[in-house]
Amino acid sequence: MGRATSQAGRMIRLERLVVGYLDTNCWIIAPDVPGRQPALIIDPGDDPDYLAAAAASYDVVGLLLTHAHADHVLALSALAESLNAPIIGHPAEREVWAAELDHLKRHGYLDAGTATADLVANGKAPRPTPGVPLWNGHLDQEIAEPTKLALGPLDVEVIPTPGHSPGSLTVHVAGHLFTGDTLFPGGPGLTGPEYPLTDFDAIMRSVRQLLSYPTDTVVHPGHGADTTVGTEQPALESWQARGW
Ligand SMILES: [Zn+2]
Ligand SMILES: [Zn+2]
Repeated sequence: MGRATSQAGRMIRLERLVVGYLDTNCWIIAPDVPGRQPALIIDPGDDPDYLAAAAASYDVVGLLLTHAHADHVLALSALAESLNAPIIGHPAEREVWAAELDHLKRHGYLDAGTATADLVANGKAPRPTPGVPLWNGHLDQEIAEPTKLALGPLDVEVIPTPGHSPGSLTVHVAGHLFTGDTLFPGGPGLTGPEYPLTDFDAIMRSVRQLLSYPTDTVVHPGHGADTTVGTEQPALESWQARGW
């Protein structure tokens, strides 16, 4: 659980809710107009009661996964049930989630990428919260191609951006990009031969596409602080050259 922040934009209302063992950014996105609004929740990573309370003033029309690493989906099942909202994601993420569950079964804790060793050494091995149901891999809406979703008066564009995982998605709405673990301040998300189902060449193609948006587009990654397309664009070729 973490702090919630709100941002009133010209058209969009954003709430950031920080949850779970990797401080995942869960987002509530809604049109910025008075009254009860439809909302999309991106990456319900953990802490379903906290997220449900934050979502209570909206009509939640969907729970969208940027990808299915455990730190982005642990509250998914509980929220889908309590909010009666459909789950939206890329079908290729079922394989990612299966690998996450397999890791949990073999090691007794979840894979947390580069943070795993430290978390385990500090007695904070990441595990699902007892009593919170795990996602069964079901998607109510599968997105494998660029897709437009309506959110009241807002056009939401969902774009496949593979690389960190095969079915990673980025959400573009009203000058904001929600990039999951595909693009952060300072570079692309984690890939590498030791990380199953990741692909550096693919993530760089995805990042290149994201950095072709207008320079004032705000980038909201799956963890940590925001950045902008214009801030990150000059470093693109240096990321390509360093290979991670
Ligand atoms: Zn991830
Ligand atoms: Zn993550």
